[in-house]
Amino acid sequence: MGQPVEKKNHKKASGIYDVIVIGAGASGMMAAITAARQGRRVLLLEHMDKPGKKLLATGNGRCNYTNEDMDYSYYYGNKELVPSIMRYFHNYDTVSFFKEIGIYPRKKNGYYYPFSGQALSVVEALTAELKRLSVTLVVSCDIHGLKPDSRGFYVQTSTGNYRGKNVIVATGLKASEKLGSDGSLFPIIKGLGHRFVPILPALCGFEAKGMNFKRVAGVRTQASLSLVTDGCRSKLEEEGELQLTDYGVSGIPVFQISSNASRALYAGRKVGLEIDFMPDLTHSMLVEELNRRFARDKGQRTLSQSLCGLFHQKLIPEFLKKAGFHPEADAGSLGPSEVEKLATTILRYPVELTKVRDFSTAQVCTGGIRSEEIDIHTLESKLVPGLFFAGEILDVDGICGGYNLQWAWASGYVAGMLGAPVHFECHMCDSDSTD
Ligand SMILES: Cc1cc2nc3c(=O)[nH]c(=O)nc-3n(C[C@H](O)[C@H](O)[C@H](O)COP(=O)(O)OP(=O)(O)OC[C@H]3O[C@@H](n4cnc5c(N)ncnc54)[C@H](O)[C@@H]3O)c2cc1C
Repeated sequence: MGQPVEKKNHKKASGIYDVIVIGAGASGMMAAITAARQGRRVLLLEHMDKPGKKLLATGNGRCNYTNEDMDYSYYYGNKELVPSIMRYFHNYDTVSFFKEIGIYPRKKNGYYYPFSGQALSVVEALTAELKRLSVTLVVSCDIHGLKPDSRGFYVQTSTGNYRGKNVIVATGLKASEKLGSDGSLFPIIKGLGHRFVPILPALCGFEAKGMNFKRVAGVRTQASLSLVTDGCRSKLEEEGELQLTDYGVSGIPVFQISSNASRALYAGRKVGLEIDFMPDLTHSMLVEELNRRFARDKGQRTLSQSLCGLFHQKLIPEFLKKAGFHPEADAGSLGPSEVEKLATTILRYPVELTKVRDFSTAQVCTGGIRSEEIDIHTLESKLVPGLFFAGEILDVDGICGGYNLQWAWASGYVAGMLGAPVHFECHMCDSDSTD
């Protein structure tokens, strides 16, 4: 593994740096590499004992670092920021950049992972590149003060005080705090005059009611769901493996609607889901299937038994009770309109979302630095010249699938260009032969 240039207690980290990057996560390492590639003298400060701790946890330890399908509608927050930044560093630039530093890509259903299958390789490749470029990395470094002055910035820390002409803040928000992004720099950033769009957990589960969740806990089932806000059903449907837990709902389709749901709950709106527990069948196909089963089992099995083999056993009583039928009633006891009602319940099962799970379970956060306080082309503060932001701390969050890391790389790249971004230039440049 590429060792950090320096580790602790950095008397040697002296003189004035062209740029001090705070936070050695995805965007901070990218910003430091970009600045160093421009010939800048770079200091990278990290308060954890190692860089890239969150990166190691990404993609279940495999790091889904970008996606082939880069549609800006997959991002939430400030809508102008993503196109404005991504034009300098797009998904294909991410693939090229990582190839340059030794990460051979593996594409699966459009999702990019390192061929090694290890997030560790991504962290090691980034730290090796930092070392090659002589970036000074200081870990276990708590920031006590950040003061702009006539010479740039004076940064007071637990490992010494440093001077930089520019500062890039890449400290993330508060998702999965134990991996480092704990909001500890927020008071200092606010002290410089910046304000935040409310920071809320996203890509996480929700507490819910409308089903006996204690009883169905542990069920994983294919489902399609739509978000319903103040009675209004979203046109977007998210299909995938729904996880029912003792507190409520989780799993990829819930994560995909989580940003919108989290913000709607914060705004005090009534938020729910309509869950289609049989996305493979239309309403009329399901009615036909139910009628076939009930006719077959009439006088011999209960309603509950008749549905066995169609749905998870724990779900069947929930469907029947929600539709107003007794699970122990005879399979032949429902009339045509009642079968219709049962099918509707199964295909549009209503659940109320009562609370978003906390930051410790969230993969990202919504919200961040208010975009009107930064230049959306350079990511420089409009309030404090020479101060830049990168990564999740900006008001952008994406759905699952490599979109959040793509944002981290792109915004890290632009911030690292220190006010003069140009399109990323690949040094290997057979960039599109990645399939
Ligand atoms: C479990 C999990 C899985 C994920 N999987 C994926 C995935 O597969 N694909 C994807 O695209 N996204 C994924 N994400 C989201 C992705 O990891 C983040 O969007 C991305 O890491 C954000 O990058 P960042 O640089 O802004 O912040 P971070 O990566 O959080 O880095 C911030 C850094 O700043 C440091 N820091 C914070 N405060 C201070 C301070 N006061 N002083 C000094 N240093 C500080 C932190 O310790 C940290 O190292 C996942 C997230 C989690 C939690």
